[in-house]
Amino acid sequence: MSQSDLPYSVLVEFYEKIESTSSRLAMTDYLVALFKKTPVEVLDKVVYLTQGQLRPDYEGVELGVAEKLTLRAISKATGVPLKTVEELYKKVGDPGLVAEQLLSRPKQATGLLGFIGQEGLKHELTISQVYSSLMKIALATGEGSQDTKVNTLAGLLSDAKPKEARYIVRTVTGRLRLGIADMTILDALAVAFTGSKAAREVVERAYTKRPDLGFIAKELASNGLEAIKAIKIEVGVPVLPMLAERLSDPAEILEKLGGQCLAEYKYDGERVQAHKKDERVWLFSRRLENITHHYPDVVNFVSMLKAEEAVVEGEIVAYNSDTGEMLPFQELMHRRRKYDVDKAMKEYPVRVYLFDIIYLDGQELIEKPLPERRKILESIVPAGSEDILLSKARLVDNAKDLLLFFEEAISEGCEGVMCKSVSGQSVYQMGARGWLWIKFKRDYRMEMTDTVDLVVVGAFHGRGKRAGTYGALLMAAYDPQSDTFKTVCKVGTGFTDEDLANLPKLLEPYRIPHRHPRVVSRIEADVWFVPAVVLEIIGAEITLSPLHTCALGKVEPESGLAIRFPRFTGRYRFDKKPEQATTEAELMEMYKSQRKTALQQ
Ligand code: ATP
Repeated sequence: MSQSDLPYSVLVEFYEKIESTSSRLAMTDYLVALFKKTPVEVLDKVVYLTQGQLRPDYEGVELGVAEKLTLRAISKATGVPLKTVEELYKKVGDPGLVAEQLLSRPKQATGLLGFIGQEGLKHELTISQVYSSLMKIALATGEGSQDTKVNTLAGLLSDAKPKEARYIVRTVTGRLRLGIADMTILDALAVAFTGSKAAREVVERAYTKRPDLGFIAKELASNGLEAIKAIKIEVGVPVLPMLAERLSDPAEILEKLGGQCLAEYKYDGERVQAHKKDERVWLFSRRLENITHHYPDVVNFVSMLKAEEAVVEGEIVAYNSDTGEMLPFQELMHRRRKYDVDKAMKEYPVRVYLFDIIYLDGQELIEKPLPERRKILESIVPAGSEDILLSKARLVDNAKDLLLFFEEAISEGCEGVMCKSVSGQSVYQMGARGWLWIKFKRDYRMEMTDTVDLVVVGAFHGRGKRAGTYGALLMAAYDPQSDTFKTVCKVGTGFTDEDLANLPKLLEPYRIPHRHPRVVSRIEADVWFVPAVVLEIIGAEITLSPLHTCALGKVEPESGLAIRFPRFTGRYRFDKKPEQATTEAELMEMYKSQRKTALQQ
């Protein structure tokens, strides 16, 4: 073995020690001892292997060999029939122990080991050998890859001592769960290579910019703390995302943020950190997994940004392409399917709402205050795009406006608002949860259990598949006191193709060039109607919204009632006159008596 390698048995000894300790301090000490013993050439590999990995998460190199294949490899390496191996596995439950036990037995002549069966004759496995075999296993894809995996693993196990086999198998099957936190490794690296924990902060900062423990370890061990300080954001490598604190009182939020803040819609989708370098685009999730292949459409949108190199953050949101309405998070999850990405892409279209920029054309922007970052972000978002947009934001300086904006966001299908500091110190805090961002969400959700009958008072032109018909209808409740119709929602969901084809014909007789005098609306429709046609509507819940006029000022000073995620049930209420539609008073009653469901936090 060369000086630049390390026997795998040293790592195995470490694994055993870690498994038998319950003290974090001892864990750190064992790590320090291991790192000090490790030649710098293989330090990155050792660091990854302590976490049961081969590369940092965001590169998506996954081991996770199926148990069936692992048992086949064990059988092949030991010469023990597969059936016997499987029976032992059923009894023991851990394929690592199966491999260890079978390798400890006197060998059969038929195995790969042949007659060699004596421990003494085996050469010593090194970190490099184990690592490169594991890498070969992880990277094998396509036809014949199962055989490659089995053969490579069998070969490795034939060279392993029983205890080594235990950990190799646990590693390939993703069962090496030592629970060593990244932060513990950073502690250990600081102690091992700078002599004290004092350097921990610098090391951690570098890690937030480049969350690759193997890279940080190697850099620190070979080039010292100055090199660590000089680590820069690199396009293609995600930074740890900034996180938010939480409060539920608008006045308190504003006080925390110095009296004013940028309130942004808190979209109910998936956070994405998008990196662009010339033609190439990477997408990373909140947990920094590489999710590029799930969203070919988003890759396309990001490539339209007006920048050569950029790192931006936003939320991917599913929407109804016919109506433009945002859909809840659950709908987006269909996009996480492994197969048939193209089909899922067509069925569940998405948009991206950008809310931050971290890097642009060679320049890190994390130290710039939010208003400056937002301006820069604005300058690179393609004008007029309907696919990649800026998050809806409003500068607010009083609790009333904040609450109204919050209600508007909820009624539009968002989860609430994100309130962000606009002070000179409002930097992008990588990997930190702090008070520069405060989320304002609800603790509960109401439940709309009954349908309502609403009157069609306006409509919006459809696009795409709905060109030529209506994309959504503006619906109103009746207020007998003032004899007016007051808006509650825009509905575009629940219509069949036949419904859609018939709508223009159905509504044509009532079409007028302006809002009907008996209609009270804060929303400007494309087409207005005389209140006449009544439709049955159900929604997820009745919420407050400054956009709608039903019960405006009656429950809350400047908000009306709105139906969130409304849907046409399919029932045309031709039996009802518009004055027999659900009334404002009935909706208020429904709002008050809605069942509250606690939201998971
Ligand atoms: P956290 O991310 O704070 O650990 P969490 O995963 O439970 O908590 P939330 O409590 O829902 O997430 O709040 C934070 C998330 O809100 C962000 O990670 C991001 O995905 C999402 N989000 C939506 N809109 C915005 C926005 N305009 N600005 C920042 N984040 C937003």
